[in-house]
Formats: sequence, C-alpha cells, structure tokens
Amino acid sequence: MKRYRDKIVIVPLGDVDYFQINKLSTALSSRFGHSVDILQGIKVPNEAYDVIKGQYFSTMILQKLELLKASEKEKILGIIEDDIYSTRHHSLVSDADAVGGTALVSLFQLKQQFYGLPDDEKMIYQRLVKEATRVVGALFSIPYCRNPKCVMYNSSEMFDIDQKTEKFCDICKRTYMKVM
Ligand SMILES: [Zn+2]
Repeated sequence: MKRYRDKIVIVPLGDVDYFQINKLSTALSSRFGHSVDILQGIKVPNEAYDVIKGQYFSTMILQKLELLKASEKEKILGIIEDDIYSTRHHSLVSDADAVGGTALVSLFQLKQQFYGLPDDEKMIYQRLVKEATRVVGALFSIPYCRNPKCVMYNSSEMFDIDQKTEKFCDICKRTYMKVM
C-alpha cells in the first residue's frame, strides 16, 4: 500500500490574486517542509452565502473544502476574498477545522480598504502569510503561543498580526518538529 506524505493544498475561492497565492505556497512549503499544491480556483459555494449578512458561512465552506481531500494526509487551505462568519464570530479573518484538516483565510479584513486606507499589496501579503501559517500550524496541532512575536500567537486583532513575525519561535519550532 502506498503511504501518503503530509501535503498542504491551497484552494483559491473566487477571484483571488494568483501571484499572492504562488508566493504563499513557496512560503508555506519552506516553513512546514512539505510540498504545497495549488488547486485550480473553485467558485465560492452559493449555499454558504447569507443574503442578510452579506457574508459567507465559514463552517459550510470548510465542509466543502474537506470534499477536495485526496488523502487523509492532506491539509486543505482555502483563500477567499469575501467576508466570512461563524456561529461564534460575526466576522472572521480565518477559521479551521482540525478534525477535518481544513482551514480558511479571508482577505477581507486583511485589506487596508477595510480600514478606509489605500490598499497596499505588500501589507496584505504579509498579513496573509502570517495568518495562513498560523491556521496551517493549528492543523498540524501546534497550539497558540504566548510569544507576541511568534507566528502562532493568537492574533485576533490586525494590530497583533502586524506586530508579530511570520516565523515560529524556538518553542513552536520544536513542537512542530515532534509532530512532523
Ligand atoms: Zn511560538
């Protein structure tokens, strides 16, 4: 029987900038030491859209992403432009289902436009790579970190995301080596 290796699979949902996705895949591959595939973009599932909220229900999108898994060893990371929500949060930057092995990052709040500021591609990318690393780290069972400079720091505010680095601290690095 063929043994599958851990793999990260990025799935763009809707109209996501391919250049940023490509850069992200290289960054995740070097951070986690696994190969990263980029799937052809899929349409954002209509049924996950809440007309009244004007947002997408992240739990339903995570379930859809799980259907794309080719093996249990794959971790699926969806990237979406639109705003997402869950039953516990009215708006989210990211969401993950550790059991399903799926995660989702929304670019909506990562954009400077959201704060009434001119857009800055470099800044969006830096935020994207940090948030994507944190959720994928969570899928590999790395817990939240108390070090505000560590990428695994629980950064729910944009200020915290901007303050932290895109790297693991020494403790998280060792934690990851154990599960790798
Ligand atoms: Zn850490």
